[in-house]
Amino acid sequence: MHSEQFSSAVLGWFDQHGRHDLPWQKEKTAYNTWISEIMLQQTQVTTVIPYYQRFLERFPTVESLAAAEQDEVLHLWTGLGYYARARNLHKSAKIVAHELDGKFPVTVEELEALPGIGRSTAGAVLSISTGKWAPILDGNVKRVLARFYALEGWTGSTVNQKRLWQYAEENTPQQRVGDYTQAMMDLGATLCTRSKPSCLLCPLQESCEALKQGKTDSLPTPKPKKTIPVKQTFMLMLQQGNSKEVLLYQRPPSGLWGGLWSFPQVADLRDTLNETGLELDESTFQTLEPVRHTFSHFHLDITPIKAQVNTPTDCVMEGKPLLWYNIEQPENVGLAAPVKKLLESLAN
Ligand code: SF4
Repeated sequence: MHSEQFSSAVLGWFDQHGRHDLPWQKEKTAYNTWISEIMLQQTQVTTVIPYYQRFLERFPTVESLAAAEQDEVLHLWTGLGYYARARNLHKSAKIVAHELDGKFPVTVEELEALPGIGRSTAGAVLSISTGKWAPILDGNVKRVLARFYALEGWTGSTVNQKRLWQYAEENTPQQRVGDYTQAMMDLGATLCTRSKPSCLLCPLQESCEALKQGKTDSLPTPKPKKTIPVKQTFMLMLQQGNSKEVLLYQRPPSGLWGGLWSFPQVADLRDTLNETGLELDESTFQTLEPVRHTFSHFHLDITPIKAQVNTPTDCVMEGKPLLWYNIEQPENVGLAAPVKKLLESLAN
């Protein structure tokens, strides 16, 4: 199959079966496309839609996003995960609004210079919002191409990345490039799915090497597994008397859950108490069922401890940004995912 046949088969399928009414397809500006592409990284369309709508309602322009407090941006991101995406989005918005006069760059290289934008995202933003020729290679496209060409070995290896970009470049047409970008993402998300791809409905089935060789289950070759370590932590859910307020502190701006609000948390309960100077009523301690949160490089087993504080609010955990978070009237702040769940469990 020649590259023109490849792209016209994909576009023909897209015209009939692709997704044409996603919220970010209504007005394909660079800003809308950029927000949607960042949200869609590692996240499914159905999850992204309500987040995208809330985000755009609050920040309809790059200037409004640039002018926002980071806390509010993280708040609107709470639950989507991978918070570095939100912090980078905010940083990039400030650069575009203040240094580039509110105009998004119009080359892949310049877009890539913004925080959090890689080559594939830059290609998607450019091709969809301007129609410029720019290939993409996101997770969905990688899977389609790795299967179509029966590429052996992990798709993230340097040599395979290079091959895949070559395939992506060869097949990206000069015409209707924005539609082709969307079509490839749709094909990967709806037909050439991770497990049980719907090859019988696929416009590429006649020339797909993985299908010919009976390798649709084994390709793409999974990433070599490494076992990830398990870390332990305690999260103190501190309340004063019977009030509905729980103590949260803001984590440092970068690193794990950077800038998000969390319960006081350390590896050793006794040390925490000594370190923070909190005066806790140990008779009120209640250890809850541990919960596991998995990051890309380790599991975190969290043991939540409910307890009452005797210390006056203004002298606890000196030097840390603190917040008495009212679970019945929640503040607009970004919360780490397990913290959000635990707060919800307290509210119920
Ligand atoms: S034929 Fe099957 S494996 Fe090949 S690209 Fe289409 S859906 Fe994917």
